[in-house]
Amino acid sequence: MSLDFVSIRAQHSLAEIVARTGLFVPPGVTDYKVCCPMPDHDDRNPSMMLHLRTDRFHCFGCGAHGDVIQWVESVYRVSVGEAIGMIESAAAFPAIVTRSVVESSDQRNIGTRLRCEVPDLERTSIKRVKAVLKEAWYYYSHGQLHDEGHRYLQRRRIFVDALEAEVSDPVVGHTPYGVPDRLLIHLRGHGFTDDEVVDAGLAKRNGRGIIDTFRDRVMMPVKDCDGDVVGFVGRYVGQRPGAPKYLNCTKTVAYDKSINLYRPSRPVLGPTARIIICEGTIDALAIAVVAASAGRSTEFAPVAGSGLAISDAQWGAIVDIHAGTIVLCADGDIPGREANLQWSHALAKRGRGGLVAPWPEGDDPASFLGANGEVGLGSITRSSTLVHISN
Ligand SMILES: [Zn+2]
Repeated sequence: MSLDFVSIRAQHSLAEIVARTGLFVPPGVTDYKVCCPMPDHDDRNPSMMLHLRTDRFHCFGCGAHGDVIQWVESVYRVSVGEAIGMIESAAAFPAIVTRSVVESSDQRNIGTRLRCEVPDLERTSIKRVKAVLKEAWYYYSHGQLHDEGHRYLQRRRIFVDALEAEVSDPVVGHTPYGVPDRLLIHLRGHGFTDDEVVDAGLAKRNGRGIIDTFRDRVMMPVKDCDGDVVGFVGRYVGQRPGAPKYLNCTKTVAYDKSINLYRPSRPVLGPTARIIICEGTIDALAIAVVAASAGRSTEFAPVAGSGLAISDAQWGAIVDIHAGTIVLCADGDIPGREANLQWSHALAKRGRGGLVAPWPEGDDPASFLGANGEVGLGSITRSSTLVHISN
């Protein structure tokens, strides 16, 4: 089999495979940027770099990367064997849907191809969108799917029972297995139209059909201050190479990942409470879980934006949570340390300082608390370096 891989890579360039996928690649370029065609990446600005000299691709948006075989596996969601079969076959690849903008490193813009349907912000009322999301969350978070979400977290030593008892609601769920439109079928059965499900960000529709947006994912709800589910964050747990690790709902009338924050719970906070800013949804969840298990939920308000990026609107909402100390809890790696520094600057602009939690190199809040439990909370309460940057 390994020989097959080698010969297939030698015989088929990335330029050829990308062109067979239906994307335009001008002759003679070496590095070329296109809108990412991965099914889970709704790429509006070209984020996918094609390295045509080395036959590798890399998406700066969703992290998809690899060689020609992984390209076919990821774009068409097929096994490695099927991908090789497609590459060796003379048959055309199925047309894919991607956004219309394609640009090259020499700034030429070449319009191409098909359009992906995005949620219509006017077609469906926010009330109806929230009703879709509420039913979807019920489906994801009860019965076997709830157990499946629990099992994933338990493997990471995150035990959510105390938190779920405290908030009287599940805090984790899972996408259904089997056919790729299982959630959609369920929602149709509850009287929702396909338009409504698309507008809630839970189904993707193109000329070929309609499928669930979230598949093979552990699901966490994003709620507004009324406690209504407005969107989801899904952690990928499948086997497909190139799938983004975390997926947020696309922008809908109820949800905007640059505005909404993930908060695993909203307890009434005490006077000494700390706002804890995390880069990962599961990190914020892990802190709330350990705090609830220790009976200390009133002391911690963990939040997560969308990865390392936190918008002005989100900073405004974060500093409004509580007047107490803010602890910066990005991961214990180089991007995390840089994020803590950037976050400190953003806080300073708002007249607030931040403490930096000292995660050991390679740790993040979820892994650290998983290993240390309540004792690990001390790393947050005792944290460490005071960062206050004056403007
Ligand atoms: Zn991508």
